[in-house]
Amino acid sequence: MRSRGRSLPWRALLALVALGAGCGVLRHPADGKPGTSFRDGRLLDPDPPRLVVEVDRLDGAEPRKKALDAFARSLAFYVDKPGGIEILLDETIPAEEWDGTPAGLRRIAREHRRPPPDGAAAMYVLYATEQQKYRGYCYRAGELADDVDVPVVVVFARRLRSILWVTGTAQEHAVLVHEAGHALGLVTEPSHRDRGHCTAAWCALYRTVDPRSALVWALPALFAGRLPLHYCAACRRDLWPGGRAPGLRGIPGLPTPERPGCDPVFADDDAPAGEAR
Ligand SMILES: [Zn+2]
Ligand SMILES: [Zn+2]
Repeated sequence: MRSRGRSLPWRALLALVALGAGCGVLRHPADGKPGTSFRDGRLLDPDPPRLVVEVDRLDGAEPRKKALDAFARSLAFYVDKPGGIEILLDETIPAEEWDGTPAGLRRIAREHRRPPPDGAAAMYVLYATEQQKYRGYCYRAGELADDVDVPVVVVFARRLRSILWVTGTAQEHAVLVHEAGHALGLVTEPSHRDRGHCTAAWCALYRTVDPRSALVWALPALFAGRLPLHYCAACRRDLWPGGRAPGLRGIPGLPTPERPGCDPVFADDDAPAGEAR
């Protein structure tokens, strides 16, 4: 009995390895051939120089300050905002104001969002309690309504409770990073997109937990409480030439536009956009 019980996890792991091996480098097949991808320049580029993330919550849904602070640090890696990124923890809204519909969300965004006074770029985050199995979702700028011209992210607090030693804070951070990726413009490039998400199982923009992502993340999650918090190289290339996110400047020794070193793709950056490959 005991040995049978013991062998089961190993059999499951072997099955996962077999599945993983069957799919090359743990990628889903992509939707299509390379094409153009959308990027939200207001959020990403140094003009405007500041980014304000306004956070409102429906009564009963409480954001964790540590998750929001960690989220601001993650954002600072991917967006170029010399004036800084500010998290503005704002109103508590009566729970009955939102019925879970896009129309209701549009109404809340119109009534409760405060446009930043100095023309800073903005993102609106609403914490709700729960809706079906969602952990979060995102409407890019203008998707919810023409006059809601900033991305709107919804986070479902009750879906983000600690599981073993994967803390609720870590899950909240991971959901914020995932949804913000959609807001920035990921994953709109068909060559590594699978139904709106990234094809790479190790990417924060991968769509779900499946055998591929389980194989990559089971051990880090189980033993270190770690979750996907970074965009893969293909996603970073969608946002920045050569994938050189602004945060790389802070890491000694890595190539940046200011410090190209011997990076072979740096020269391509000066080519006109139409010729870039
Ligand atoms: Zn997503
Ligand atoms: Zn990716």
